[in-house]
Amino acid sequence: MNTSTHYAPARCSVSGCEAFALTGADTCWTHLPDRDGWRAMLADLDLNAAWLAEVDLSGRDLSGWDLRSARLSEACLRGANLSGADLRDAFLDGANLVDANLEDANLEFAILGGADASGACFRNANLQRSNLVGTRAHGADFSGANLYYARPGNADLEGANFHNARIQRTIFRRANLKNADLSGVEGSANFENANLEGAAR
Ligand SMILES: [Zn+2]
Repeated sequence: MNTSTHYAPARCSVSGCEAFALTGADTCWTHLPDRDGWRAMLADLDLNAAWLAEVDLSGRDLSGWDLRSARLSEACLRGANLSGADLRDAFLDGANLVDANLEDANLEFAILGGADASGACFRNANLQRSNLVGTRAHGADFSGANLYYARPGNADLEGANFHNARIQRTIFRRANLKNADLSGVEGSANFENANLEGAAR
């Protein structure tokens, strides 16, 4: 078993494959022979800065897990329970976070660019300085979340709930906030060219 990580990823053992091996495996996700077995021992691994690109952990209970700096790019986390998880500096670009539970999760400096978090719950999450550029989060719940200096530029946040969220210096440039709930927000954000049609202030 290799010790592939975000900082020192090892190549997938399948010849000709250019992808990196997952932490705790010899192959990339595509070539992983025993996905259930790998998933079953995940909880016992040190996943700090783990290489977890493209994995399918949909519907899994990852609550409270330490996933700092983990590479979860293009991962399927649909419906996963990530409440209270430590995702500081994690890469969630292009990830499927539809209906995932990220309540109280720590996402400071996390990258969610191009991710789909529609219907996800970010209630009271720490999203300070996170990258949400182009993130799709239709109807997501950001109530009580801290979005200080977060960058949801070009994000599609239609119908999202920001009730009582902290949006000091949040950059909503060109974001779609149609029908979003911005009631009780704290701080002044940049709404340059954002669509605020029907948004509640
Ligand atoms: Zn491979």
